Formats: sequence, C-alpha cells, structure tokens
Amino acid sequence: MRLKYGMIDTHVHLWEYDEQTINTYCANGNLLLMAVSDDLESSRRTLEIARGCKNVLAGAGIHPWEVGKASEDDLKATLSLVREAHFIGEVGLDKLFVPKTFSKQVKFFEEFVESAVRHSKILSVHAAGAWSDVLEVLRSAGVKLAVIHWFTGPLHLLKVIEDSGYFIGVNPAIMVQNKSRKVVKAAPLSLLLTESDGPYKYRGMKLGPELIPETIRIIAELKSVNPDVVYEAIRSNAENLLTRAEIMPS
Ligand SMILES: [Zn+2]
Repeated sequence: MRLKYGMIDTHVHLWEYDEQTINTYCANGNLLLMAVSDDLESSRRTLEIARGCKNVLAGAGIHPWEVGKASEDDLKATLSLVREAHFIGEVGLDKLFVPKTFSKQVKFFEEFVESAVRHSKILSVHAAGAWSDVLEVLRSAGVKLAVIHWFTGPLHLLKVIEDSGYFIGVNPAIMVQNKSRKVVKAAPLSLLLTESDGPYKYRGMKLGPELIPETIRIIAELKSVNPDVVYEAIRSNAENLLTRAEIMPS
C-alpha cells in the first residue's frame, strides 16, 4: 500500500499542544504525525488523541528526562499500553542533559526495547550524548525497527544505523544547527525521515510540523537535488518503516 501523506512528522509531542492546534493538525489530510509521549499520563493522553485522528500514530513511552521522576509502577503501567500503541516513544538514553539518572535510564530503556522486540513495534529513540550506547542496546536486543530522533551523533555511526535497517529523524533545527547539516550531507537519502519535536523550542525557534517543508528544502539544497526528490525519498522511507511495523494508515 502506498503512503498517501506528503508531510511526515515522525516525532512530535502532540499532547503538549492546545486542543485547537491538535484539531488543526488532525484535520490536515496531507500530514502524518507520529505522536510521542513523555510519561504514563501523556502516553494515555496520546492514545486518546490518536483514537480520534486517523493521521496520528500514537507512541507510548517514558522520556529519559522523565525517568528520574518515574516509579517502577509507572514503568509497568506504561509498558502495558504498548500493545495498544502504534509504536514506542519517546524512550532512550541521555548522557548530555540528565547524566545523573543514567543507570535508571538504561534499566527503563532496556524494558521498552524488550517490549518493542516482543510486539514488533517501532522505537522512537532519544540518544543525546549517548549515540553509541543507544545503538548498542538496540542492536544487541535484535531491534529491527527504530528511528534515531534528531540524530546529531558521530558520522561513523551512520553506517551502523544503515546496516541495522534503522532511520534518522531530521529536525527543522537544521535551519540553524551546523551539526545537523553535516549529518544530512553524509547520510544517504534512504536513511532520512523528517520530524519536528514540536512544540519544543530550540535556539529561539518554535519547532512544529509546519517547518517540515523548509526542512525538506534545506535537505534538497545540501544534497543538490530537487525538493521533490527529497519528498519522495522520505515518503518512501516512511512507507517502508510503517509497512514493516504493520501500522500503515489507510
Ligand atoms: Zn522529543
């Protein structure tokens, strides 16, 4: 089946938006949203939003920044939502912003990874400052479906990501973030997906799905191809990922 959406946001915190904005995104027939969650409560909320929007795929998970506050019961309850969710996220490891909780993060991440393998779900993975650590956990667990969100890690890892069949999310931050431009220059188009991480703010930018066309334009410029080529590559990459996960929206 062909994916009919032209604008694809593989990582957005939809639950953080107000009702009106959520409704606007939901009504956009050209926009596909993979809505990530941050903790147990937002996982429940994201699943509820997705029930009313056919262009929203819901992720359940506990963000590494929230792991410090989360209890063992929160973890269990969030894991119990995985079967109903379309995918798992936002989960991962972070040595850059929250290094103090790292050992607890590893424990939580491993549980989500195990659940992803068991239920054949995609993982939307946060890996700030822990790029190799994350890939090691995913690969040793035999994960087949993963998107490394906002990848700005070492370029040599692109080959590992490609060999593993994973993708990387290109964020609109590419408008101002040099590291992100370097990644896109080095990575094959077959590895790229678009994302927003909205409504997160980055260096004065309010990130959101409306910045995806500009993100595509910059990718095209860096690759010296027509934007249509990038649109089609991303559409086809998303189609490949969602088909393998058996969550292609109709
Ligand atoms: Zn995020």
